[in-house]
Amino acid sequence: MSSNNPGFATLAIHAGAQPDPTTGARNTPIYQTTAYAFRDSDHAAALFGLKEFGNIYTRIMNPTQAVLEERVAALEGGTAALAVASGHAAQMLVFHTLMQPGDNFVAARQLYGGSINQFGHAFQNFGWQVRWADTAEPETFEKHIDDRTKAIFIESLANPGGTFVDIAAIAEVARKHALPLIVDNTMASPYLVRPLEHGADVVLHSLTKFLGGHGNSMGGIIVDGGTFDWSASGKYPMLSEPRPEYSGTVLHATFGNFAFAIACRVLGLRDLGPAISPFNAFLILTGIETLPLRMQRHSENALAVAKWLKKHPKVGWVHYAGLEDSSNHAIQQHYSPAGAGSVFTFGLKGGYDAGKGFVAGLQLFSHLANIGDTRSLVIHPASTTHAQLTPEQQVAAGAGPDVVRLSIGLEDVKDIIADLEQALSKV
Ligand code: PLP
Repeated sequence: MSSNNPGFATLAIHAGAQPDPTTGARNTPIYQTTAYAFRDSDHAAALFGLKEFGNIYTRIMNPTQAVLEERVAALEGGTAALAVASGHAAQMLVFHTLMQPGDNFVAARQLYGGSINQFGHAFQNFGWQVRWADTAEPETFEKHIDDRTKAIFIESLANPGGTFVDIAAIAEVARKHALPLIVDNTMASPYLVRPLEHGADVVLHSLTKFLGGHGNSMGGIIVDGGTFDWSASGKYPMLSEPRPEYSGTVLHATFGNFAFAIACRVLGLRDLGPAISPFNAFLILTGIETLPLRMQRHSENALAVAKWLKKHPKVGWVHYAGLEDSSNHAIQQHYSPAGAGSVFTFGLKGGYDAGKGFVAGLQLFSHLANIGDTRSLVIHPASTTHAQLTPEQQVAAGAGPDVVRLSIGLEDVKDIIADLEQALSKV
């Protein structure tokens, strides 16, 4: 790139990519291969011993994946990244690198329901304990910290409620206790929020959502902010102690400000195995090229829909941080001045039956469990994703009987509103 300081849209198209040196192909090829020929035995030994960077086997790295990693690292302002098979795989590898059995971490209650399950159930089986805190009260994070606490975890823009979080306030708690702050930036994308600029140390994404953007491929990514000192406390032995399988290499001492991304790759991905397919990496890269345009349009359409719903007589309330009278509006303006994103919730005055009936009456919207597609999506959590919870638990999770979640797509906004109008008329 000729510019020393390329802008976000330029990075979204060019970062990490060049014409293919062998064929001249301008778009990043899909390197559909499992393994890579070594030049000779010394080359093979150097790669296996981490003495030289290079491709060995697609479970650990792949050239299409490498372009995706460099691009997302550039968009987030990180030092390096590791792409994996899904957002959940990214979370698993981050905690695998940080935690030992008996350790704990403090996570926001305001999270995607699947993350609440992963932390509360699967992670327990590894002996990793989660402690829940409230993003509206940063001191609730501090209350849970003890000498076995290894990290703090939040979402920058919480799913499903669409609430922007005061990242800097929680980063201050993390700093005070010398803990890394891990931020899931899936709902905002780096176009709206860049958590590393507000004190995060590691950023994660489900690439499945806005970065891919077209509802066609699963993926996840871990971005190393390069900010955290993994050796200072002795609490992160995977990074600060010699690795026997790599002839005693100490990853932090050897790789410095990108050691976390390296550890997730050469320990976590190597041994646990959730590699992204080269084809999915290609589709997600193609999606990222239009991320700025899509996020602008998602936010414009969502704001117009939220304003329209607010005036509808059958609608009880609308929670969209982009609305000027939202209690979350000031935080949204501070962290995400370019827009408030695509996903939000609203409540129907008619409760459970109205919510279920409304969803059934929509025609342009797709009724499914996803967000961040070009298409407009809808779900009624109380009759689907949260149906197994008690009424009290549903309300606490922001999934009470009247709640409908929308992920507003890129269609003409007049058509989105017309579909909502005809479905509401039948409720
Ligand atoms: N984080 C957030 C905010 C999500 O919405 C999701 C999925 O919906 C995930 C993580 C998990 O990602 P994946 O479905 O790619 O495993």
